[in-house]
Amino acid sequence: MDCIFCKIANNEIPASKVYEDENVIAFKDINPVAPVHILIIPKKHYESVLEIDTEGNILNNIFKVAKIIAQQMNLIDEGFRLVTNTGEKAGQTVKHIHFHLLGGRDFQWPPG
Ligand code: 5GP
Ligand code: ZN
Repeated sequence: MDCIFCKIANNEIPASKVYEDENVIAFKDINPVAPVHILIIPKKHYESVLEIDTEGNILNNIFKVAKIIAQQMNLIDEGFRLVTNTGEKAGQTVKHIHFHLLGGRDFQWPPG
C-alpha cells in the first residue's frame, strides 16, 4: 500500500521522530502550524477513526503517548490541542489515522 505514514513507521522515509514504541510513533509535522506540532500515529494502518477498533488498545496507546509528549514539551500547565481530522470536509489529507498534538500558542474555539 502506498501510504506515506506507513513508510515513516517502517523507516522507509525519514521523519523527525520524538517518540517510538511497539505500537505508536510520533514525529514532527513537516509543515507545522504551531510552535509544537507533532503527529501521533499507530504503526498499523487504519484510514481514520471510522476504522479504529474501539474495543482495542489503540486509542489508549495514542492518548498515553499524547500525555508523554505533552509532558516532554512542557505543555501540561499551559494546555495543548489534540485533533484528528476525518474525511474531506474536515481536511484529512493523509489517509492513515493521525492525531495532531498542537501547542505553544493560543487556539481559537470553535476552530475555523
Ligand atoms: P491532515 O490534513 O490529514 O489532518 O494532516 C496531515 C498532516 O501531515 C499535515 O499537517 C502535513 O503537513 C503532514 N505531512 C504530510 N506529509 C508528511 C510527511 O511526509 N512528513 C511529515 N513529517 N508530515 C507530513
Ligand atoms: Zn498507512
